[in-house]
Amino acid sequence: MISKRTKNLEVQLQNISDFPGCLILYIRGEVRGKSANWLQKCVREYIERGFNKLIFDLTEYHSYPEDLIGCFLIFQKILRQTQGDLVIAEIDSKVFYVFQLLGFPYYFNYRKTSKDALSFFQQRGPFPKIFRCGKCAQWLEAPSPGFASCSICSSVFSLNDDGEILHGTAIDYNSKKN
Ligand SMILES: [Zn+2]
Repeated sequence: MISKRTKNLEVQLQNISDFPGCLILYIRGEVRGKSANWLQKCVREYIERGFNKLIFDLTEYHSYPEDLIGCFLIFQKILRQTQGDLVIAEIDSKVFYVFQLLGFPYYFNYRKTSKDALSFFQQRGPFPKIFRCGKCAQWLEAPSPGFASCSICSSVFSLNDDGEILHGTAIDYNSKKN
């Protein structure tokens, strides 16, 4: 577990070894103003590295969540561009009440525990598969098993039913082999 902190805010990050691309973030403290900017920068770095299934565990978040909601909106928008998503787990009923008041009771995926959130992602399967072309670094999306090609340099890839790339030079952040 990696721990990162700034004034009033600590984030612990846990990656799931048998489920690549997934990250659990335990948020403790207060997300407001500067710490919201810090959180955005921190999470964006992980999204850039290929983590597109994020679980935010709010067991220890009891502060006013307006800026945290702002961060979630940004993360969700970025994540959905790479077929990823975020799930909020262990949200305190008082904090959730503010989510409701501000109009976000259904906008995000909520699960009772981080474990429930993990099964939400695990049930979704490997497709559409997101990876990067190994030659030109373009992000690519394969909707189903079979062949895919790079829209920039025309490199060809083939993918099996498990979403593994069998042929072609690819950067696959979600592969257990990397
Ligand atoms: Zn390419």
